[in-house]
Amino acid sequence: MTAELVWFKRDLRVTDHSPLVAAARRGKVICLYIYEPDLISADDFSKRHLLFINDSLTELDRDLRKLGSRLLIRRGEAVDVISSLQAETGFRCIRAHQETTNALGYQRDRAVKKWAQSAGIDFIEYRQQGVVRAMNGRDGWARQWQGFVTSPLVGRPRQIVDGGAELAGLGVQSPESFALKEDGLISRQTGGESEAITLLNSFLSDRSGDYLQGLSSPLTAWDSCSRLSPYLTYGNISLRTVYQRVSQRKRELQRQRGQRDPWSQSLSNYVERLAWHCHFIQKLEDEPAIEFDNMNPTFNGLRENEFNPVYFEAWAAGQTGYPLIDACMRALQQTGWINFRMRAMLISFASYHLWLHWRQPALHLARLFTDYEPGIHYSQIQMQAGTTGISALRIYSPIKQVLDQDPGGMFIRQWVPELIHVPDDFIAEPHRMPAPIQQQSGCIIEHDYPAPIVDHLSAYRAAQKRMRAANLAAKTSGDSTRVFQRHGSRKNQSRRQI
Ligand SMILES: Cc1cc2nc3c(=O)[nH]c(=O)nc-3n(C[C@H](O)[C@H](O)[C@H](O)COP(=O)(O)OP(=O)(O)OC[C@H]3O[C@@H](n4cnc5c(N)ncnc54)[C@H](O)[C@@H]3O)c2cc1C
Repeated sequence: MTAELVWFKRDLRVTDHSPLVAAARRGKVICLYIYEPDLISADDFSKRHLLFINDSLTELDRDLRKLGSRLLIRRGEAVDVISSLQAETGFRCIRAHQETTNALGYQRDRAVKKWAQSAGIDFIEYRQQGVVRAMNGRDGWARQWQGFVTSPLVGRPRQIVDGGAELAGLGVQSPESFALKEDGLISRQTGGESEAITLLNSFLSDRSGDYLQGLSSPLTAWDSCSRLSPYLTYGNISLRTVYQRVSQRKRELQRQRGQRDPWSQSLSNYVERLAWHCHFIQKLEDEPAIEFDNMNPTFNGLRENEFNPVYFEAWAAGQTGYPLIDACMRALQQTGWINFRMRAMLISFASYHLWLHWRQPALHLARLFTDYEPGIHYSQIQMQAGTTGISALRIYSPIKQVLDQDPGGMFIRQWVPELIHVPDDFIAEPHRMPAPIQQQSGCIIEHDYPAPIVDHLSAYRAAQKRMRAANLAAKTSGDSTRVFQRHGSRKNQSRRQI
């Protein structure tokens, strides 16, 4: 009997991997990963993504070898690699997970399916997210999601019979071999299944106790959030494993401490976010064009012709003159992660204060987020930029956020060292320092640190006026109702996050 092919994409693990378990049960298996130059050279991909993938592949190969197999790594466009492997080995079946990803990945999946069909090869896809394919409207989505995340895990195969032992493969590929540029990353999360489990364990045994109180400030979110996002993006751990472990911990805490225990309430809140993960990806699944186009067409033309490249460069470099914006951008450049509220503030500032169309800022952040997940990313970006027409207008003040989230300026001073000696009273708006204080603190505005590139209050008011008018037009035209019917959450609790 010929081997079956298991094609690993963004599901780099051996546990709860349905295609792998199914193929291992039937006989010999070839486990394949393809480095795809088209995806790697795209403008939403960066060196940090490749490093995370490489960690994950190294561990995946090690785990597969323990089970009797190994990872075959090849490089090229997916149809070319898979069709030439088929010619070498004669496999008749490909098993893989369904993916909701960017347009390039979507086209690649369609091309492979088309090739498989024409070659008479079975191509069997399995769900790994709570995303529903070919959904007709959002009614009943939450029930389907719940059914998926509570369905039994498939464990890991006891043994795999290697169907590709004699095949020539590659080792992990360096960023240089794809001409990926340096991206300023200094400390990073290490990829791989064991790292994902370690993080989940530390979150459940300890860190999640402060989840709700800690998730908004960039000072505390670092430890209070689970930090599982890149592991979910690259499938080092399955979403339903996380869901089931968290639910089990919540029940334990409720038994020990009662139903209203704050820790278990934190975990209930966390579970809601796991639902958001899929709720947002579902939007891209249902409407792939939102990677490029406004979700609500009434907003077309609102910002497109006013893109100011000087503002964009200042924002992207962390040089806006607004300390919390700059600190978040620089933290992101150096670590690959920032918490939800600060991500929202960064996009809000780009979209409202700087009036930049969201597409270039979205690509910039995609390259910086190790956890870049196209479905969540573009849906969140559009929500925060106000182009859905179905969520409340939320313009973050980069000054008030300092008072709320970093009142002593500790986070700001860590990432914007020019401001290290600026007194607390001026940390949100250093340009207001009188000249002698600028001298004393060693921070001369426009010499050591920029003056604000726009005035907060006038930019805020101008954006608010334009957005109110656009939202009214979107409502009147019926476009907002159509967007809600297609993408809006039907659960009250999630409506805040539409
Ligand atoms: C503009 C913008 C862009 C974003 N882009 C991404 C992205 O590319 N990839 C990504 O994984 N998340 C993205 N998010 C959502 C969120 O900020 C991150 O999921 C979260 O900060 C990751 O850290 P964590 O795993 O410690 O989160 P936790 O708070 O521990 O949450 C656990 C998991 O729940 C999911 N989740 C949490 N919050 C959200 C949310 N608001 N929406 C959807 N899912 C959520 C994520 O899968 C996350 O890993 C974005 C948010 C904004 C505002």
